[in-house]
Amino acid sequence: MAVEDSMVRVVVRVRPPTPRELDSQRRPVVQVVDERVLVFNPEEPDGGFPGLKWGGTQDGPKRKGKDLTFVFDRVFGEAATQQDVFQHTTHSILDGFLQGYNCSVFAYGATGAGKTHTMLGREGDPGIMYLTTVELYRRLEALQEEKHFEVLICYQEVYNEQIHDLLEPKGPLAIREDPDKGVVVQGLSFHQPASAEQLLEMLTRGNRNRTQHPTDANAASSRSHAIFQIFVKQQDRVPGLPQAMQVAKMSLIDLAGSERASSTGAKGERLREGASINRSLLALINVLNALADAKGRKSHVPYRDSKLTRLLKDSLGGNCRTVMIAAVSPSSLAYEDTYNTLKYADRAKEI
Ligand code: ADP
Ligand code: MG
Repeated sequence: MAVEDSMVRVVVRVRPPTPRELDSQRRPVVQVVDERVLVFNPEEPDGGFPGLKWGGTQDGPKRKGKDLTFVFDRVFGEAATQQDVFQHTTHSILDGFLQGYNCSVFAYGATGAGKTHTMLGREGDPGIMYLTTVELYRRLEALQEEKHFEVLICYQEVYNEQIHDLLEPKGPLAIREDPDKGVVVQGLSFHQPASAEQLLEMLTRGNRNRTQHPTDANAASSRSHAIFQIFVKQQDRVPGLPQAMQVAKMSLIDLAGSERASSTGAKGERLREGASINRSLLALINVLNALADAKGRKSHVPYRDSKLTRLLKDSLGGNCRTVMIAAVSPSSLAYEDTYNTLKYADRAKEI
């Protein structure tokens, strides 16, 4: 298959209901049919799936013709583990990464939908950021005879259109485009964790430095994007001959909550910014929409509209490998957010 045909892999993760959702006596509005298909029933309040009730509500007849069926590259139900999600998302692009292609993995969804759980995870159950780096180390180890590698990581946040270093906090940092190095964040610290434990410690520490602790369900944390990047430099080991150095970058991103960017369905329509809207998230959506519209053609892609899209300019479109993980709650309490996220994820398949 041509690279252009599979530029973006789109998966959906449905998290388990929270205690509050279970207590609400509502039924789920998302049903995972199989590993690629889910059905969404947006009806309120007596919609939902008769076979899947959580509370004491009596079963009603399932309304015909109202269920919406969505097909994705992969659908993860509430029983999916971090390892399952990793295996079918970043794991599948690691080969391309080692061949020198830039990659990006996004967690997209409303606040509370499971983005941070998926990307960072929690103590004893680390997420994609950790699992990806550890697998990468394992692969590089196996290639050591043939190649010389250098791995560097950095962890930054975009909040309020300012970039902050999460591993060595200091003032806001500026972006520069270097003709040789590509996108450069001036003053950003790079690290070489010596072990998996040290890496986990860095991720945890970086996360504590986010504008607000991301597990707090408060407005500020939901507007910050956390960007974990892994740079791999490689050079063939051929005695006596100077070898070209190849550099590739993988960006793993816990995006701001999408709840303020809910009108994202309209095809080709450029979203307008409002004072209360997350500019970087809207710009990312606009860039991805432009890439989808431009598929196979040359057209303007508005990378310059935000800090996040400037940072990721060399990691989206073209030869880059992209995975979008859309996170949703299964509960009718969040059906509007879930519907918007599913519609957006469905649109992202066209990129
Ligand atoms: P977001 O980052 O999208 O705002 P979180 O990742 O913080 O959402 O998830 C909200 C809550 O749900 C957290 O308490 C989190 O631990 C829990 N949670 C999310 N996804 C899962 C999952 N797959 N399994 C168990 N708990 C989850
Ligand atoms: Mg979060």
